Amino acid sequence: MEQVAYDRYPPWVVVLSNVLSISIWIIGAYILSGFGLLWSALYLAYCIWLEFRLLRHTCVDCWYHGRQCAFGKGRLCGLLFEKGDPAVFADRQIGWKDLVPDLMVFLIPFVGGIVLVVQRFSVSLALLLGALLILSFRGNALIRGKLAYAHCRQREMGCPAALLFFGKAAREGPRP
Ligand code: SF4
Repeated sequence: MEQVAYDRYPPWVVVLSNVLSISIWIIGAYILSGFGLLWSALYLAYCIWLEFRLLRHTCVDCWYHGRQCAFGKGRLCGLLFEKGDPAVFADRQIGWKDLVPDLMVFLIPFVGGIVLVVQRFSVSLALLLGALLILSFRGNALIRGKLAYAHCRQREMGCPAALLFFGKAAREGPRP
């Protein structure tokens, strides 16, 4: 079935994608609070820094700058920064190693949680680790793959992340 690209994503997609991210941050911060509140604060600061970095260096060049993308960041970026160049976005080269900072949002609390489970097992901690795992992988795959990338106008124009994940099929979008 042909995927329709959105000039403006429905608000419920924006809400859902942000609820997912914020849920992951809150679960991660809660798990790390087992080592002390300073760890939770450092973790949240790291998550916010990643978001700022994305806005400052990536969203500025995206077609959705000033528009409502699946994550709401296009509009936010339009309020904070001048529009860049969409050609720069399409020409950017990224590899798997560039995803490591984002992967750390999951990995830091997950590894910390495993250490805590080994030290002092509790069912609630084990359930939180399971929730973190499911939201980070299944949740992100659903939101990014089926709700975001599948309808992304920038992907049609060229998106290095879509190319990395979906290869030559990137411009047609992922198969549901
Ligand atoms: S689609 Fe991605 S890169 Fe484009 S504005 Fe939204 S969050 Fe930023």
